[in-house]
Amino acid sequence: MKDLILNAALVVIVLTGCNPPPKETATTPPDLKTQAETLAHTYIITDGHIDLPYKLAKEGYMAKGEIPNLSGEIDGNFDYEKAHKGGLDAPFMSIYIPASLQKTAGASKALADSLITMVEQIATTYPKHFSLAGSPTEVQQNFEKGLISLPMGMENGSPLGDDLSNIKYFYERGIRYITLTHSKNNLICDSSYDPNRKWNGLSPFGQEVVREMNAQGIMVDVSHVSDSTFYQIMAMTDVPCIASHSSVRKFTPGFERNMSDDMIKMLAKKGGVIQINFGSTFLSQKSRQLYDSAKVALNTFKTEYPQASDSAITAFSNQWLIDHNFFADVKDAADHIDHVVQLVGIDYVGLGSDFDGVGNSLPTSLKTAADYPKLIAELLERGYTETDIEKICYKNVFRVWSATLSAAGKS
Ligand SMILES: [Zn+2]
Repeated sequence: MKDLILNAALVVIVLTGCNPPPKETATTPPDLKTQAETLAHTYIITDGHIDLPYKLAKEGYMAKGEIPNLSGEIDGNFDYEKAHKGGLDAPFMSIYIPASLQKTAGASKALADSLITMVEQIATTYPKHFSLAGSPTEVQQNFEKGLISLPMGMENGSPLGDDLSNIKYFYERGIRYITLTHSKNNLICDSSYDPNRKWNGLSPFGQEVVREMNAQGIMVDVSHVSDSTFYQIMAMTDVPCIASHSSVRKFTPGFERNMSDDMIKMLAKKGGVIQINFGSTFLSQKSRQLYDSAKVALNTFKTEYPQASDSAITAFSNQWLIDHNFFADVKDAADHIDHVVQLVGIDYVGLGSDFDGVGNSLPTSLKTAADYPKLIAELLERGYTETDIEKICYKNVFRVWSATLSAAGKS
C-alpha cells in the first residue's frame, strides 16, 4: 500500500479516476488472446499483493462492521467479478500497517487483527465465491471447487512489536508472509524508503524474527527492505524468500524499492521468487520522472488557484497525466519478466500487482484483476511456453510457499 510517496492531494488524484482509454495490444493475434484466456482459467493464478483490506478499511467498511458486495463489481482494481474474469485464484490479501502506527504501542497489532478479521468476514459472507487458504494444498482444493482463495500476507512487521511469540500468533491467524517493514525503519530492519538507516540492515531482534518466521513457516518477504537488510536476510537463511511486489531496478535506476540484478541473482540462488509489481512508477523510469513533474505541476496549480475544489484539482491532474503519457503498458510488465528470466531463468519470477495499492497509476491494459490474460497473451507472443506461464502464474511461488511450510514441519 502507498508505494507512491506523495503529498496528500496527489494521493487523491492518483486514487481517483484518471484512467485514460485502455490501449489494446492491437498487435496481439486473436488466437493468442484466446489461448491466454484459456490458460488464465486453466492454471491457478496467484498474486503476491492485493491491498483490498486496507482499501475497505479506508472506505469505512471496517468501522461499520459491513462487507461490501464483493460478489459483484465494486469500484477498484479487485472484486469477485474482475478476479473471476481474469482467472485470479489466490490473491494474497495485504494486511497493511502504516508506518505512522508504529509510534503507538499496540495500534499496529490492533489494526492487523481487525484487517484479518475483515478478510475472514469476506470468506464467511460470500462462501460461494471466496474461501480462506493457508497452504498451496488448500488453494488447490478451493480452485477445484471454483472458489477464489484469500491467503494473507502482512505488510510491515510492526504488529509483532518486540515479542517473538506474535509470529506464532499471526501464523495461527492465517498470515503466511510478512513484509519485514514498510516505508520507515522499524524494530526489525531498515526500509528502502527511509533515508535514516538505523540498523544498517536487520536489527538483532530482526535476525531473531527471521529465524522464528522460518521456524513457524511464514515466508520472509523482502519487498520494501533496504539493500543491506536484503543481503543480511540472504546470508542467514536457506529457506527461500519472496519479494511479494517488487520490480526490476535495471529499468528504474536508483529506485531502491525495486531489486538490482545482483539481488535477483542472490534471491534466485536461494530458490526465491520476485513477484513483479505492476505500478507504472515501478515499471518505467519515464513514469517515475513524470510522477515527480506531476507533483511540481500540481503544486504550481494549487498555488495559482488556492480556492480550487478537490474535483478541479483532480480534473487538472487527470488531464496532466493523460497529456504527458504517464502510464506504462502491459508490455513494460512483460519486459520486467523477460529480464528476470534472461538473468536467472524461468523458475524465479511471479506476479505481485499491488492492485488497490497503487491506484490508477496502473499501466494501460493492466488496470484490474480482469487483465491477467492480457499479460499472458503478451508473454505467449514473446514465445513463452504454456509450461513457462504455469510457473509464472503460480508454480514458482507455490514452490517457495511449500518449502517454507515444509522447513517448519508443516504442509
Ligand atoms: Zn507495498
